[in-house]
Amino acid sequence: MLPPPTRYEKIPVTTLASGQELFIPLHRLEGATPGPTLGLSAVVHGDEPLPNEVIRRVLTGIDPARLRGTILAVPVVNALAFQSLSRNTPIDMLDLNRNFPGDPGGWLSEQIAHVLASRFVSQLDVHVDLHSGGTFPTVDYVYLFDETRELSLAFGSELLFQPSRPYQGTFAVPARQKGIPFFTAELGGGGLLDARYIQKGVRGVTNVLVRLGMLEGEVVRPLGQTIFTELAVIRPRFGGVLYPEVGLEQLGQEVAGGTVLGRVVSPYSFETLEEIRAPFSRGYMILLRGAITRVNPGDYAYMVASAETATPA
Ligand SMILES: [Zn+2]
Repeated sequence: MLPPPTRYEKIPVTTLASGQELFIPLHRLEGATPGPTLGLSAVVHGDEPLPNEVIRRVLTGIDPARLRGTILAVPVVNALAFQSLSRNTPIDMLDLNRNFPGDPGGWLSEQIAHVLASRFVSQLDVHVDLHSGGTFPTVDYVYLFDETRELSLAFGSELLFQPSRPYQGTFAVPARQKGIPFFTAELGGGGLLDARYIQKGVRGVTNVLVRLGMLEGEVVRPLGQTIFTELAVIRPRFGGVLYPEVGLEQLGQEVAGGTVLGRVVSPYSFETLEEIRAPFSRGYMILLRGAITRVNPGDYAYMVASAETATPA
């Protein structure tokens, strides 16, 4: 694995009780000619390592002589969550991506968020935050907001989510405060088809660089792109083993309402505790679990978007 030809910096956050220094890793790739500053970030959720490799490949694959402007990349936003392979910061149990813009006197996750907002996002003209499905789920969609429509479409995912009410406290908050475009891309996860989703992520970021005029080239977009506005997160009501009834090949495909997506079975008594069915009369599979996995009540099991209210881009 080649390290990227970047200037590597460490933004200090704090000292932990263990005595270790907590820092934000930052790669700076400066192009030969001036231009915008694009921010890339990954692993704000510690169980989503795939976009980390997307960032490494983007940084190693670009010839700075051909780059206009600067890429600033944080390959691991939440090192403590990454260390424990958990979505949340283990020290305060908070989801860093619900605690922006942060607070220098708040919980540790709020302190980290404050450093990211004031020392990283403050330097950017555009910010793309890269996510994945986590240890078990696999996902494939991109967020679209009115102010980022062209950039979100340029990323090149087939399915785009325009939420009417965005989640509170995400990385979008400091970007909105600064008035710069921001969107989130969700790619891969579950340890399935990693190569495909890494390639898709690299192509997506490259497309954004071309769209911003930071690289020469053409934006490579799929033939059809669909924007959906209704997204159901389907969380099991019972824990146990989740046996999938739809496979990974169904990700991004249409699913009829009532289709059994998976069954939660007790590994103790072997009784079926729950059948999980697709909502909406017509939907798109946005997130699924492609393998037999342990599931807790309330976990991310599936996401299905309404195809009835979706529109072509
Ligand atoms: Zn995430």
